[in-house]
Order: sequence, then structure tokens, then C-alpha cells
Amino acid sequence: MSHHPVTPQDIEKAIRNVADFPQPGIQFKDITPVLADARLFQGAIDLLTAHWQPGQVDAVVGIDARGFIFAAAAAVQLKAGFVPIRKKGKLPFKTYEQAYDLEYGSNTIAIHVDAVKPGSRVLLVDDLLATGGTAGAAASLLQKIGAQILEIDFLIELKFLEGRKRLPDNLPVRSLVAY
Ligand code: AMP
Repeated sequence: MSHHPVTPQDIEKAIRNVADFPQPGIQFKDITPVLADARLFQGAIDLLTAHWQPGQVDAVVGIDARGFIFAAAAAVQLKAGFVPIRKKGKLPFKTYEQAYDLEYGSNTIAIHVDAVKPGSRVLLVDDLLATGGTAGAAASLLQKIGAQILEIDFLIELKFLEGRKRLPDNLPVRSLVAY
């Protein structure tokens, strides 16, 4: 049992690489070992929220589905609200939708039209930045409803995919572990 503060290297060691999941050629980054370890999970949330104090953030927005886990915990830590961005067709009330291109085909995500008040200060959180299509579309939805995005945060970034290029270029983007 270690008692030093959790570092990004500790988190990196716990992330499990699963080759060829969900399809051949994909190196899937499995974060469940991080979640299952109380110290690493708390440490990951501490690192994700390190720039912010309660009172500085109105809501933490998480992206379906693994983004919810980190965003919800970060929201509690920052005494902020939690807002989900979901795959199309899952949210029950009126929504805005945003489509984005995948390698093959496209995807659509949605947010409730009243999820945050215009001018609200939000963090956008997901588990992993790959091509940036998902987070880029999520940022567009937040801009459509008038949220002020303070920062976009990921546990993991696959740098070689250059996902930052698909994110708004005036916003801070941080990741804890990069490959
Ligand atoms: P992208 O839109 O290409 O940036 O993909 C990001 C989304 O897909 C995130 O919500 C991730 O959870 C998921 N994702 C993409 N690639 C991987 C991967 N290699 N391992 C785990 N999750 C991934």
C-alpha cells in the first residue's frame, strides 16, 4: 500500500491495454482497473480537478458513457452540477443534436436544451481523446447552448491521432496520460 500522492504514472501503470477490441487493430485502453482501486480513482479525480476550486465551476459535463464516471465524481468534488451528453435518442426531454464523422459512418450526440444556463462555467470531461470527433461535437453542443467552457479534460490522450485539431483552438485541453 503506497501513501504518496497519486501521479499520472501510477494511473498509466493501471490502465490495461486490450488489443483488437472491439475490432481488429484497435488498442483499447481499459480504465476499469483505475476505477476499481480506491486510491487511484480518488487520485485521478484529484488530478482532473487540480486547476479548480469549488465555486469556480457551475457544472461538469460528461460524455456517454465512461466520461460520466469521471465527470460525476469531479462534479461532486468541485461542488458543481453534473450534465450528461448522451448518444442520440437516450435523453427524454427536448435536445440539441450534433453529428460527427467516424472512420466509417457517423455518430450523433445530444444534450438537453436546458442542461446549463447561458454563461454557465463548465468543464467538459471524457475518459479518452482519440480522433477528437466526440469531444469536438460535445464542445459544439455546449457552445450552442451558450455555456462557457473553461477547460476540456481527458484521463487519456492518443496523441498520434491528433484529436486536439478537432477541438476549439482557443480552449485549454489537458490529459493526464498520453500515448
Ligand atoms: P474520438 O471521437 O475518436 O476522439 O473517440 C473518443 C471516444 O471513443 C471516447 O468516448 C472513448 O471512450 C472512445 N475510444 C476511442 N478510442 C478508444 C480506445 N483506444 N480505447 C478506449 N476508448 C476509446
